[in-house]
Amino acid sequence: LQIREVDSEGFEGALLRVPGRSRGIIAVRRDISELARKRFTIAHEIGHYVLPGHGSVNAVCTHAEIELDIAESQMREKSANRFASELLLPRALVVPLIQERGISIKTAKHISKLFQVSLTATAMKCVESSDQPCALVISVGNVVARFYHNALFDYRISLGWTLRSDTKAYFLSEHSDDMTDTGEVPATAWLDRQGLQRDVMITEDSIFLPNYDQVLTILVANRMS
Ligand SMILES: [Zn+2]
Repeated sequence: LQIREVDSEGFEGALLRVPGRSRGIIAVRRDISELARKRFTIAHEIGHYVLPGHGSVNAVCTHAEIELDIAESQMREKSANRFASELLLPRALVVPLIQERGISIKTAKHISKLFQVSLTATAMKCVESSDQPCALVISVGNVVARFYHNALFDYRISLGWTLRSDTKAYFLSEHSDDMTDTGEVPATAWLDRQGLQRDVMITEDSIFLPNYDQVLTILVANRMS
C-alpha cells in the first residue's frame, strides 16, 4: 500500500484498490493537523484493506467514521477502527501499563504520548482493557455526546443527557481555567437512581479539552467495602 497525502474537504482517508492485484493506495487528507489522527486514519484504511468482508471496492471514510466510532457507524467502519486501535495500541502492551499506573486520564495521556495515538482513542482502549468496571464519557457543552463502557460496567448513560451540576465534568466546562479534576462523586451524579445499587461509588476523572470544547471523563464504579 502506498500512502499519499491529498487535498480533500469531503473525506479524511480513502483506500483505492488496484483491481485484481494485491496493491492499493491510501489517500490521507493533507491538512489533518495532528499526527496522531493522521496515523489513525492510515491504520483505519489498512484495516479496510486487510479485514475480511470489506470487499474489493474502494473505501472513502469521513471524519465521523474514523476514530469516533459513533453509534450510527456501520459495522465495517467499527471494525476498521478496532483494527486501527489494535495496530497502534496493542492491548498486550496497554494492559501492563494500566496495571502499573491505574486507570486514569493521566495514564491515558502517558500512553497516548508513548504510542502517538489521540487521547480519546487511547482512553477508549484503556477503558476496554481495564479489569475494573469503567466507562468513558465525552460531553460537549455539558451534554453527553458519546459513551463507552467495558463489559464490567453495568450502567448506561444516555446520549443527549445533560450533565448534572455535581459532576466534575460540569464544573470543568463552566470554569474552563481548570483543566482536570479527579475524585469521588455521588453515584447519582452520573447514574440513574433507578437500578443503582446502594453501595456503588463513582470515581470521576475529567479533563477539559479547550480545542474541541469537550470534556473527557473516565468513570470507575466501585463497591464500597
Ligand atoms: Zn472507513
